[in-house]
Amino acid sequence: MTSTTSVSAQSAAALSELRSALIGDVLVATDPHYDTARRVWNGAADRHPAMIARCATEGDVALAVRIAREHGLPLSVRGGGHDWAGRAVRDGGVVLDLRFLRSVGVDPYASTVDAQGGATAGVVGAAADRYGMAAVTGTIKAVGITALTLGGGYGLLNGRHGLAADNLVSARVVLADGAHVTASAAENPDLFWGLRGGGGNFGVVTRATYRAHPLRRAMSGLVLFGLDQARKVLKGYRELTAAAPDDLSVMTGFFTGPDGVPLLFLMPMWSGDAGRAQRHADRLNALGTPVATTLGTMTPFEVLGLLDPVVVDGRHVLAANRQVSEISDEVADVLVDAAARFTSPYSGLFVHHFHGASTRVPPAATPFELRREHNLIEVVGTWEAGDPAAVHEEWTRDLDQALAAHSLPGGYVNLLGPDEEERVRIAYGRNHSRLLALKAQYDPDNVFRGVPALIR
Ligand SMILES: Cc1cc2nc3c(=O)[nH]c(=O)nc-3n(C[C@H](O)[C@H](O)[C@H](O)COP(=O)(O)OP(=O)(O)OC[C@H]3O[C@@H](n4cnc5c(N)ncnc54)[C@H](O)[C@@H]3O)c2cc1C
Repeated sequence: MTSTTSVSAQSAAALSELRSALIGDVLVATDPHYDTARRVWNGAADRHPAMIARCATEGDVALAVRIAREHGLPLSVRGGGHDWAGRAVRDGGVVLDLRFLRSVGVDPYASTVDAQGGATAGVVGAAADRYGMAAVTGTIKAVGITALTLGGGYGLLNGRHGLAADNLVSARVVLADGAHVTASAAENPDLFWGLRGGGGNFGVVTRATYRAHPLRRAMSGLVLFGLDQARKVLKGYRELTAAAPDDLSVMTGFFTGPDGVPLLFLMPMWSGDAGRAQRHADRLNALGTPVATTLGTMTPFEVLGLLDPVVVDGRHVLAANRQVSEISDEVADVLVDAAARFTSPYSGLFVHHFHGASTRVPPAATPFELRREHNLIEVVGTWEAGDPAAVHEEWTRDLDQALAAHSLPGGYVNLLGPDEEERVRIAYGRNHSRLLALKAQYDPDNVFRGVPALIR
């Protein structure tokens, strides 16, 4: 059974208190499930927490925060485990593991989805789908919906409905002192403002309500092109997205196909009138000569699964991100050259087009300041565990530097690394000082080092 021999006296006291107080269980290094439970999506983030508090109820979260604080143990919060830098787990700390808190309810009359703090985009998307609705999520099922929303949330409905954060209606939050409060436009509106882009810096969100949108089917799928077509297709992508209506968002990027050859992909989502879907599909297919195309109508939940096979759990990752005004010819050259030099078949480049409804939210209305049209470029250097990291890390860093010359300052806070404080500050722009004031008010002792951390 369990033993406390591997934890310090201070941790042992906390462990015993947590075990008697929590309805969920608490794992330490000697527990059989500890090793699996401490793992996150990025296998390179190999951390050993003192204990993992697997919260079974929202009340467990408040108890765990209070007990960890009383014993002076550092805390981290784990939702979907997809922060590439692995900040959900801290060496020697207490992990508040929310994976069992993932129940979701839909109110079809209010057009909302209510999700516990550990819910993933997939469970939220699946629940909304049953009622013929779509939630505003990212593009991968296993990513936690809460953290994605807390940092912004780029996805294929952002042209029509804004960021995930723009669709947050209210949240229940456990604060640093263990108090459990509601944040919404009506209650604690300052905290509600901070939650819509300010990251997990103010508390643990145990439950949140999101706006959902009636949408039974959309046009989507993947169009794949060889690299010889890539520059021409990216030029077409630039022109097409610059004139895209709100109902059409298109992702592009590169990954390696099953036969080991790098490919450019287009992944659209047309959520408008079904009668016009084919016209948009035809235009995308005609941007070059595809090697394959799967465009057709599908549910929004099916769209959410399209890229899942490309981002497998447990591989080692170094990620970077840049925001550019447009995919200019110069940026396209940098991307195509990098894809041609992929050092691993698992690496990928993912480009999100930010436009439409997302750009009509005033920059000070939420912490997410960059409300002008742009493209977010995610660079995801990925390799097998055991493969020497250096060559893949160099590829990622070189590409990041090459893109920097063409980029807007700042970056997407959900994907900035722990050492990129200056870019975090720039990303928040004029909202940064308001966030710091909020931090001082709600978490003066910096219990919650969110993604991104406002204070180290
Ligand atoms: C493969 C992949 C695909 C992605 N796709 C997209 C995308 O399409 N769009 C997009 O915008 N982003 C995307 N992201 C980025 C993603 O939104 C962030 O990495 C996010 O932090 C992941 O959330 P998580 O719960 O899965 O991660 P975790 O590692 O579990 O959590 C990260 C941090 O979020 C905070 N946190 C988590 N849950 C809570 C909570 N309930 N309350 C308070 N704080 C909490 C904590 O600070 C925690 O350390 C992607 C990332 C990956 C790896």
